[in-house]
Amino acid sequence: RTLGEHINALQVLADTDPLTHLLNRRAFLVFAGDAMNYFRRYGRDIGILVIDIDFFKRVNDTFGHGAGDDVIETVGRIVQDEVRTTDKVARFGGEEFVVLLRETETNGALALAERIRNRVAGTAIAARDDHGDINVTVSVGLAMAEPGDRDIGDVIERADRALYEAKSAGRNRVVADPHLLAVAA
Ligand code: GH3
Ligand code: MG
Ligand code: MG
Repeated sequence: RTLGEHINALQVLADTDPLTHLLNRRAFLVFAGDAMNYFRRYGRDIGILVIDIDFFKRVNDTFGHGAGDDVIETVGRIVQDEVRTTDKVARFGGEEFVVLLRETETNGALALAERIRNRVAGTAIAARDDHGDINVTVSVGLAMAEPGDRDIGDVIERADRALYEAKSAGRNRVVADPHLLAVAA
């Protein structure tokens, strides 16, 4: 291979989460920061979903860490499969995913989040070691960029708060940042 090809391959490795092959946090934040610039300059909508697997510790405890990894991989694949090719999906840590939605308004983002939630809930995951099917659910927080946001971190923080509300309200649900409902009303 040429030097250029090696450098490219290294770049892909550096940007990728090895388990899911999704973007890692660092690479995601580069794309998201760029999208935030487009929002600020041209008003292009961006939304953030934070998706967290419910009671994941139980999956590990019951089926083992390897099966847990398989569950993370499957959920990641479902999320990637539901979004547009112009959206970006990252694994942000453990069993948590963050999605950058571009050119999507609130209702479209909500519908997408609900589709992901529903598909995960309806998927029987055949994990390694023949444990039988594993069923999990996810909770999702949604926020949209707003003119007062300093950077994408502000949007992610609101989505994260909405996620926390989804957990408190019983999990397996989508909660939107309360700002959005105020704006839509
Ligand atoms: P909640 O519904 O509130 O989200 O509960 P939870 O059990 O999903 O949340 P918690 O944050 O307590 O547990 C997450 C677990 O994910 C803990 C950790 O052991 C596990 N975990 C983190 N990274 C990995 C990984 O790469 N593979 C596996 N198998 N487990 C992981
Ligand atoms: Mg969790
Ligand atoms: Mg978590």
